Amino acid sequence: MSRPPRTLITGGAGFIGSHLCERFLAEGHEVICMDNFITGSPDNIAHLIGHERFHFIHHDVTNFIYVEGPLDYVLHFASPASPVDYLKYPIQTLKVGALGTHKALGLAKAKGARFLLASTSEVYGDPLVHPQPEDYWGNVNPVGLRGVYDEAKRFAEAMTMAYHRYHGVDVRIVRIFNSYGPRMRLDDGRALPTFMTQALKGEPITVYGDGSQTRSFQYIDDLVEGIYRLLMSDYVGPVNIGNPEEISILEFAKEIIELTGSKSEIVFKPLPADDPKVRQPDISLARRVLGWEPKVSRREGLRRTLEYFKQRLGLTGS
Ligand code: NAD
Ligand code: UDP
Repeated sequence: MSRPPRTLITGGAGFIGSHLCERFLAEGHEVICMDNFITGSPDNIAHLIGHERFHFIHHDVTNFIYVEGPLDYVLHFASPASPVDYLKYPIQTLKVGALGTHKALGLAKAKGARFLLASTSEVYGDPLVHPQPEDYWGNVNPVGLRGVYDEAKRFAEAMTMAYHRYHGVDVRIVRIFNSYGPRMRLDDGRALPTFMTQALKGEPITVYGDGSQTRSFQYIDDLVEGIYRLLMSDYVGPVNIGNPEEISILEFAKEIIELTGSKSEIVFKPLPADDPKVRQPDISLARRVLGWEPKVSRREGLRRTLEYFKQRLGLTGS
């Protein structure tokens, strides 16, 4: 091919999308980043503006998507992603999962591009199987508050497989587990940014419920590597990408207090409705078909993320 591969990343100005833009530029792709900034920010991509292979299009992907010229890959990452965000934007979340996925798939079909859907561990809901393998169908409350996100992603997966089976579109589905790192919004309400911000400001750390619920946190660089390998693989069907190191939320809060050297105390608040009690990826499939596993320990990942949070809060001391 005489031209570089051309890749569209919807939601490219978000936390994960902006890291993907960087990675695909580094791999020599021409990257078209598309976003409407509903939960993302121009700050996340400011350093890429002016790069000769980077383009930005301000667009809401629930409307018809027009991209001039050829496309080789379409990565659909647009969607509010933190519980606080999707509770604030329930209709937009359903629309971007349904209409946005439809538009992005239609574009991939028209261009003959390979399509990758950003799905989520939330498709497993409050899981009754632990850890969660890809062939577990999940336990989701469709009419609960979290249903707007979980069902949108489940619909998006179904739509993706329908385009594959009916139209022959080449598709990949990544089921992403809780991920963290630089460029998370400080106020997105997720446990990590909330705890880190509270710890650095010396405010009480808000643990929901008794903190016995578990999560398994993955550093952004591991996630990006897993997504890249999946896209370049020939595996069709959902693949979990996450770090199986599981921890209770109470222990996680204590870990952040220790890491930051904070004097914050822990306070307990009511557990939100339908909050999953456990979550841990079974990554046997990713190991087998992608030769992938996480490399960054939680300690190291949190240390790197702390630097970013200190900078954002003006606490670097320089
Ligand atoms: P984010 O909110 O930082 O990024 C999402 C981006 O999509 C934002 O820039 C937002 O402005 C954009 N967007 C939303 N609706 C749009 C629309 N209609 N048109 C155009 N742009 C739109 O969230 P994130 O954490 O980077 O998540 C990215 C993707 O990964 C999401 O699809 C999310 O569901 C998925 N995911 C994330 C995690 C995680 O731990 N962060 C876990 C599982 C799945
Ligand atoms: N959580 C918490 N305090 C907070 C924010 C979140 O105890 O200030 C809990 C939340 O109830 C959940 C866990 O931390 O059990 C992870 O929440 P997050 O929003 O990060 O992700 P998700 O619930 O989508 O896994």
